[in-house]
Amino acid sequence: MAKAYKLTIPSDRAERLQYIKRMFPQAGGTALSDDWRGGRSEATKRLNSIDIEAYNKNRYFINGDVSRLSPYFRYGCLTLKEAADHLQKQFGVESEKLVQALGRRDYSRRVWYQQGDKIFNNLEKSKVGLGDKPLPDYVRQMITGLPCMDAFVRDLMQDGYVHNHARKWFAAYVVHWLKVDWREAADWFESLLLDGDKASNHLSWQWVASSFSSSPYFFNKDILARHTGEKHCANCTVSCPFDASVEMLDAKLFSVAEPLAERTISRPATMHFSSNTAVAVFVHDEMLSAAHPLIQNSTAKFFVFDEHLYAKWPLKRLQFVADCLSELPNVEVWLGDTRDVLESRGVGQLKTQNTPNKDIKQLLESFQVDWQPEVKMIDVEVSDQRMKRFSRYWSKVSKALYGDALPEESKTF
Ligand SMILES: Cc1cc2nc3c(=O)[nH]c(=O)nc-3n(C[C@H](O)[C@H](O)[C@H](O)COP(=O)(O)OP(=O)(O)OC[C@H]3O[C@@H](n4cnc5c(N)ncnc54)[C@H](O)[C@@H]3O)c2cc1C
Repeated sequence: MAKAYKLTIPSDRAERLQYIKRMFPQAGGTALSDDWRGGRSEATKRLNSIDIEAYNKNRYFINGDVSRLSPYFRYGCLTLKEAADHLQKQFGVESEKLVQALGRRDYSRRVWYQQGDKIFNNLEKSKVGLGDKPLPDYVRQMITGLPCMDAFVRDLMQDGYVHNHARKWFAAYVVHWLKVDWREAADWFESLLLDGDKASNHLSWQWVASSFSSSPYFFNKDILARHTGEKHCANCTVSCPFDASVEMLDAKLFSVAEPLAERTISRPATMHFSSNTAVAVFVHDEMLSAAHPLIQNSTAKFFVFDEHLYAKWPLKRLQFVADCLSELPNVEVWLGDTRDVLESRGVGQLKTQNTPNKDIKQLLESFQVDWQPEVKMIDVEVSDQRMKRFSRYWSKVSKALYGDALPEESKTF
């Protein structure tokens, strides 16, 4: 790896985006659009402008009033607890559907802490046969011949954001119609999302595939047309593979489950241990908020764009992170190898926020690290039994959040 050097993130946004483009010539894809300015200020603005009635009414529609907060949670600009507390205070029980969505992220994170790298393979025996084909180039190149699926990939490539339902339909198409190995598809999909998060992404693909759910998720043309307002279907002339009843598709798509060959995640062992003694805060990409207690700490603070983590990131994601870092002027930002940077600054001991991400943990293996717990959405213990399904987790957590205030129909799935 080339020699490490310190970056000066420009405060002017246009300059900043250009600077990142110059610093990361290998980063592919389109630039970050004005709609997706990174950082806590923008996150707070979005949180404060939520129209809860609209969210409750039309969140399932492709152009519905969803919060578009996912990248802000992903990079820690805002915590789930801050958002849940704000929503409950502002909207009372009306906030339940959106807080439940936040719960899905909290749940995914808890599963990641609990299962570690196992989330990258089938967590359970799949309930139907899954394919092991590679992801075809025609999917990546948006020439499937299906205007809906090509449009979802276009959103992914251009914006890095795809509505939750479109993510589900696309994943179902790839896994159940094309019989692609969900793990390869999930890696690819996550690498292009602005909110790309290993747990939320891989567990959602497993939920679609049926290796972390009690049945596979699939859809038909009626469902897609209804929730997209016929956007893709009205003038579509192709022979539609989704145009059948749910029962017919169920009979056509699924075979008996055969186990997928286990995929191994290997990381080289660290041979070297630092003999330095200076203490610093290591800022990683899940804690980019000026309100974070460790960022407010007076100790020296370092963020490193390390190739082990960021070599494959698309440009827009690096630019989003640079927006976040521009709000943290007392954090030194470096490009290079984490160990080289910290060693050269005499650092031997680190404080940082805990993470289930083993790639981050591995970068810091040669240092003494004080892993401080991240703030949970709610400090409530959830048993292993309940952690097997989101519905069981939510019945416990919603009770802790809302007591008996929720209407009866909100308590069941
Ligand atoms: C195949 C697939 C891949 C996905 N990959 C990711 C990913 O990499 N990163 C990611 O953050 N989400 C992922 N999701 C979950 C979900 O699609 C997005 O979080 C959501 O669409 C973000 O839009 P929003 O902020 O407007 O959501 P809102 O409906 O406004 O929800 C508010 C917040 O709740 C959380 N949330 C909502 N639904 C889910 C969910 N199903 N799982 C986990 N968290 C949820 C998000 O943090 C979101 O910002 C994936 C879903 C699927 C089906």
